[in-house]
Amino acid sequence: MNYQQILATIKSEMSSVKHTGKVASYIPELEKIPENKFGMHLYCMHSGHYSFGDNNERFSIQSISKVFALTRAMSLMGDELFTRVDVEPSGDPFNSLVQLEHENGIPRNPFINAGALVISDILISLLEDPKKDFLNFIHKITGSTDITVNTKVFNSEKKHSYRNAALLNLMKSFGNIENDIETVIDFYIYQCSIEMSCKELSSAFMMYANSGKLLPNNEQLLSSSKVKRINAIMQTCGFYDEAGEFSFRVGLPGKSGVGGGIVAVHPGQYAVAVWSPPLNPKGNSELGMHALERLTTLTGLSIF
Ligand code: GLN
Repeated sequence: MNYQQILATIKSEMSSVKHTGKVASYIPELEKIPENKFGMHLYCMHSGHYSFGDNNERFSIQSISKVFALTRAMSLMGDELFTRVDVEPSGDPFNSLVQLEHENGIPRNPFINAGALVISDILISLLEDPKKDFLNFIHKITGSTDITVNTKVFNSEKKHSYRNAALLNLMKSFGNIENDIETVIDFYIYQCSIEMSCKELSSAFMMYANSGKLLPNNEQLLSSSKVKRINAIMQTCGFYDEAGEFSFRVGLPGKSGVGGGIVAVHPGQYAVAVWSPPLNPKGNSELGMHALERLTTLTGLSIF
């Protein structure tokens, strides 16, 4: 298959797609990112790297970090993790409070904010230096040891984290948060403020395409059965109240972030990352979804 040709087709098609998305503004620092940034990077297990555009430029990974946090928590803890957070799609926006009240402070899944805040709380309780551990993990799975946090984005989100504070307070009232609210918010926002490029994200996600093994050395970082579960949660919960639509149009497990990034995997085949900052009303990259839909259509490679 001529992947580079397929990517060139996607790039040219995307330049004429009518789009109405808006760059995230509730974190003021993110609104400064030029809306015409666009990059894509495909990492195929059997044939290597293909890319175009701003694929090497780092951007705020935001909620894509929730996959890494879940991976760390699952490698440190067994099934009791899932007594603190469920694995059901929410059908609600990523920062919604409504289900938590009815469901006794147990978030629907680890990829909505409430669930990721519980995962952050668990990592804080288990690790001596959770921030260092988290960054080290990303350095290991990408091989890029200079990946770090954008402090402007971090400070900008910290000043506007009223909803995340509300989620934490509600969950703490149900006994599902062990640590100080301030400590958990700080660690959660730290993870979201990490910057990575499409190329680095596709390398990081290769372990989910490759049954938990890093490439090129095949070191087993997480068991294949745990990776199967993470991919299942990405498939059903990776896009909040648009998870069904993403499955329907793209047909891959994946995860989005409000920085405009989307990463998706085809187990046994490839990991792909795309970046375009304008978001659709559900908070997912509008052009990113289009580009991935074209990728699975033109290659015939989706999991369905
Ligand atoms: N840091 C963002 C928040 O908590 C992440 C949201 C996202 O990427 N969907 O609101």
